[in-house]
Amino acid sequence: MAKFKTLDDLGEVAGKVALVRVDLNLPMQEGRASDVTRVEAVRPTILELADKGAKILLLAHFGRPKGQRNSTMSTSYVQDDVEDVLGKEVMYISEVSGPVVEQSIGILRNGDIGLLENVRFWPGEEANDPEFARAIAAHGDFYVNDAFSAAHRAHASTEGLARLLPAYAGRAMEAELKALDAALGNPQAPVAAVVGGAKVSTKLDVLENLVGKVQHLIIGGGMANTFLAARGVDVGKSLCEHDLTATANRIMDSADHAGCTVHLPYDVVVAKEFAANPPSVRICNVHEVAADEMILDVGPQAVEALADVLKTCRTLVWNGPMGAFEIEPFDRATVALAKTAAALTEGGSLISVAGGGDTVAALAHAGAKDDFTFVSTAGGAFLEWMEGKQLPGVAALTA
Ligand code: ADP
Ligand code: MG
Repeated sequence: MAKFKTLDDLGEVAGKVALVRVDLNLPMQEGRASDVTRVEAVRPTILELADKGAKILLLAHFGRPKGQRNSTMSTSYVQDDVEDVLGKEVMYISEVSGPVVEQSIGILRNGDIGLLENVRFWPGEEANDPEFARAIAAHGDFYVNDAFSAAHRAHASTEGLARLLPAYAGRAMEAELKALDAALGNPQAPVAAVVGGAKVSTKLDVLENLVGKVQHLIIGGGMANTFLAARGVDVGKSLCEHDLTATANRIMDSADHAGCTVHLPYDVVVAKEFAANPPSVRICNVHEVAADEMILDVGPQAVEALADVLKTCRTLVWNGPMGAFEIEPFDRATVALAKTAAALTEGGSLISVAGGGDTVAALAHAGAKDDFTFVSTAGGAFLEWMEGKQLPGVAALTA
């Protein structure tokens, strides 16, 4: 991995102004955040800078205001939540540059925190307009990026600023980059990848990147149906992208060439209706799915075999649930495999890294989330990283 600077590389910062890009795009319910995980993630960076006496200006987006002021998407809405998590007062600042910001900096004492307005109120943000970035940069002495989840965007606050000021990865960014490097950048072999979820079409680039990098590709979820269909299995009424069977075959061929073993389920859990514990639920061989049945989870025999595969591996990277885990009993394969991975991680034989919105929810449901080596909540950025893409926000830090 290309080298990047961290907070360890900061010299004396007392009285200096830190522009800190964070992710405060919190899910809201009745005016308050329903989940403050993102604030908790950036807390160490903010408090460390505060302890060192920097004046901290938080820079974030909130919703999709499309380059215009929008009173329903002001960062002032999350001010209380940020204060609660940090245990410190935060001063809301209604601009991101200009005299209002300058005056506010004058009021902030060393170690104080200001919260700038939603940076996406200005079209220069998403356009990565150098003039817009320069106007913001003019207020800061250095830049810290602690928002990995926004690093796949080449925006002024995620990329432009890093090129204008001395740039550092915050603690959350640093942890994320190290974990991702250990999982796919520079991993200990053998490496297994679990890829599940609904559709192949959303994860084509992920699969294509992984076959060249991992020794075991474990395919589950709805996308396994497309691969099974490509192998001539009749998947009945299952979610399946029949137009992608040729693509699935091509991926399996390139896996063969690369020495990557593709694991598809040989038993599955099927039902005639998508409902909790339906009377029609049964376990069968993949070749015994009836025309009116849907595959909704990987079967217990396949799960056992996959657990044995994980036992031989040193590294695991996981995106996408193995089945329709939101509804019982179709959560079983995901839960069992997650528990196996958690136990192997606890035992010290496996480095396990997972990410993806539904994947995080599934691991939490399995009670396995805290035992994984690293769980990324970054969504789009995590997927782009799994696709092997350069993330502009990361590239700018390592330049
Ligand atoms: P992530 O958000 O972690 O990237 P995805 O969004 O790709 O994951 O996929 C999650 C969705 O896939 C879940 O809603 C789950 O119900 C669905 N899913 C998994 N297996 C199946 C299946 N066999 N049939 C239909 N849907 C499935
Ligand atoms: Mg999802």
